Amino acid sequence: MLSNIAARDVETLIHPYTNLATFRDTGPLVLERGHGVWVYDTDGRPYLEGMAGLWCTALGYGNEELVEAAAEQMGRLPFAHLFSGRSHDPAIELAETLKELMPVPTSKIFFTSSGSEANDAQVKLLWYMNNALGRPRKKKIIARKKGYHGVTVATASLTGLPANHADWDLPIDGFLHAACPHHYRGAEPGESEEAFSQRLAAELEAQILAEDPDTVAAFFAEPVMGAGGAIVPPAGYFAAIQAVLDRYDVRLVADEVICGFGRLGTWFGSEALGMRPDTLSFAKALTSGYLPLGGISIDEPLYRAMLDESVKLGGFGHGTTYSGHPVACAVANRALHIYRRDRIVERAAERAPHFQAALARLADHPLVGEARGLGMIGGIEIVADKPSKRQFEPKAAVAARCVAFAQDEGLIVRFLAGDRIAVCPPLVIEPDEIDTLFERLARALDRTA
Ligand code: PLP
Repeated sequence: MLSNIAARDVETLIHPYTNLATFRDTGPLVLERGHGVWVYDTDGRPYLEGMAGLWCTALGYGNEELVEAAAEQMGRLPFAHLFSGRSHDPAIELAETLKELMPVPTSKIFFTSSGSEANDAQVKLLWYMNNALGRPRKKKIIARKKGYHGVTVATASLTGLPANHADWDLPIDGFLHAACPHHYRGAEPGESEEAFSQRLAAELEAQILAEDPDTVAAFFAEPVMGAGGAIVPPAGYFAAIQAVLDRYDVRLVADEVICGFGRLGTWFGSEALGMRPDTLSFAKALTSGYLPLGGISIDEPLYRAMLDESVKLGGFGHGTTYSGHPVACAVANRALHIYRRDRIVERAAERAPHFQAALARLADHPLVGEARGLGMIGGIEIVADKPSKRQFEPKAAVAARCVAFAQDEGLIVRFLAGDRIAVCPPLVIEPDEIDTLFERLARALDRTA
């Protein structure tokens, strides 16, 4: 029997990424407030937020400084835009700070309101740039199976997950997918991580050659795959991939929407994994999830092409009403101030070994085929049989049950396609809270077994 508020929800709301059929019986978990790494439902019951909301609330809940930054900007100038040469101080300050922080040569920053919009802008700008450069055939984009880049027509096409393609008539033409760099699932028996990386790079090269390098514009990659299952690439992967991309003048776009701002113990995931992207996308933890804001870095060659197009066409024809929203920018400015003052990225690096050790201990559980992670992100792979790595059917049903038990234990984690569970807590989590998180997850696994 659903509570009154749950019944009202079921009657009125459509929930993203939800089984709309079973949801009618289970109803929602309705949250009301949060503090630190804890959130509370409408009955006052606490849950450890083991997913930082949706991989975003890095600074935890109830951060008064972020609230104050938003309130102050709301009172001063609640809306201003960046169209047609208009500007505002919070966006200028934020672009300056981000330019300093970017791990790639950056000429300018372009703001969006979400990760999907950031990656969508990347796609459009690749097409725009190659038109400006007089190579209109160089438009195809290669992303990876199990990669996640968003839900617009273009970014769902980049995404490599069946749920984003089946019956959506996606991907659209020109979007291709390379193999997922998951050693546990993809390697041949006895194949080392290095050898697996070399093989995937050779496969990518063959794919580019088969398509014709003059038609391939870019390769998109998350440093560590998030929604695909917290998949850490094998040793040597990005070095091998980068060599192929360089050979065929294919740009690398790093999707830092999850890994950006400290998740892997470095400011950006590209740094942790030795990636040399041409541009990168960011969102989520930039505001600690308190307000929607994303963006992309623009390198000098891209900027020059955009300038040329402005001369030719009379302007840069792209932008959304809320991109670079002043209140979101003010919150991001305060969040970045806190990241630096409180050494949030360094502290994430210091806590990561404790987090990873606790995660690794779950690998002994009979249901866990692999427990993997990097920095402050982790994933576990549920299997029916460890030696053969055989999965339960239907896939994800067991992980979903485990996540429901975890919720019952007072822990929020997320199940993902392929019977995987992700863990990605706020970066401000304390060591004893890390222990609580994994004790609760272990109990949930025991109840699932
Ligand atoms: N890219 C990555 C790596 C993501 O994890 C996500 C969302 O989870 C996105 C892009 C899309 O971001 P948004 O949901 O803000 O559109």
